[in-house]
Amino acid sequence: MKKCIIICSVFAVVLFLFSSGVGAGAVNEDGSSGDGLKLYKKAAYIMGSILEISVYSGEDKKAADNAIDLAFSEVGRLDMLMSNYKSNSELNRINNAVNKREPERCDDELLRVIELSAKFSRLTNGAFDITVSPLVALWGFNRGNDGDIKGYVPSKRELARVLPSISYLNIVITDAKDSNDRRRLIHFKNNFTRMDLGAIGKGYAVDRAAEVLKKAGIDSALVNFAGNIFAFGTPEGRGTWKIGLKDPVVAGNILGSFKIGDGMAVATSGNYERFFVMDGKKYTHIIDPRTGYPVRGTLSVTIIADTATTADALSTGVFVLGAEDGMKLIKSMDNVEGAIIYETYDGNIAARISDGMNKILELSETAGKIKIEN
Ligand code: ADP
Ligand code: MG
Repeated sequence: MKKCIIICSVFAVVLFLFSSGVGAGAVNEDGSSGDGLKLYKKAAYIMGSILEISVYSGEDKKAADNAIDLAFSEVGRLDMLMSNYKSNSELNRINNAVNKREPERCDDELLRVIELSAKFSRLTNGAFDITVSPLVALWGFNRGNDGDIKGYVPSKRELARVLPSISYLNIVITDAKDSNDRRRLIHFKNNFTRMDLGAIGKGYAVDRAAEVLKKAGIDSALVNFAGNIFAFGTPEGRGTWKIGLKDPVVAGNILGSFKIGDGMAVATSGNYERFFVMDGKKYTHIIDPRTGYPVRGTLSVTIIADTATTADALSTGVFVLGAEDGMKLIKSMDNVEGAIIYETYDGNIAARISDGMNKILELSETAGKIKIEN
């Protein structure tokens, strides 16, 4: 069946959690659920984004707070491993060591994230690629000291110079040679190759934070890291967590909502999250590693998967692939559903929604005249 969605105004979609943060209606005014479980919540700025952890637990506030603090510490630890902005992160140590022209020993967990990233590069035919870093810098998407983006439109010649460094195939990981130091080694085939985990790091951190919460005895929680979400258990008295799709252009407009259950992750990549406008053209922070240009046409991609790492990496990869190839990939994967909102050639806005997502997505009246293709 082929429905088509046209949404009158140009909009994009972001994820948010209904008013109480999780499972609207599941929580009483005093923060308790009907069955004596209470909602404990903490939000803080970390890794350049807001991390919000919501936990349902019994009366023992101390135990819940302690579990949440452990999860925050875990994300802090990962920030020291994967941050692009911390000069002393393990990632930046490797990025900077490349000029030594010899393989560098690397933390094994970081190597595993790099290997996972390569898996998503293969899956997306190179649309997702953590070696976009030099392009991110060239287009001026690196945050300055004031936190602002200094947008810059490079010439074709500048792009051509950078492109040979952009490929996950430039990353080489080898076994340890020294029996005293079992850490594996990494080097780049191109001296200008650099890595940026901005499109997978938050998802990975969400999965690790959820693990820490479980180990600390929590049975029901929702971790939301700037729209990278993982839920386990369910809010007391309800079978699902409710997630909203918000229209950020028409402020306050909600396009719809859907519910996720135990062990489900959601992530959204949008062209409105970080961008600059130059000569009336909008340049978004998601770059096609194959051409060197910021992606045009895709407005937002929302992915549902079984891990936040997968949802995060795929939302970016599918964003680059676009509606046609992106939806093909979503449909080809088990346990993956998704929605792609994009601009058609005639300037209309359309959405492709996978069958599984279509079943759970309840569009709100404010979604406008929407044509859905699946
Ligand atoms: P955000 O984290 O901003 O919500 P994403 O998960 O889509 O959104 O990640 C975007 C970030 O990933 C960019 O800011 C950039 O650092 C990096 N990036 C940009 N293009 C790509 C790409 N094609 N593949 C992998 N990473 C990318
Ligand atoms: Mg991503």
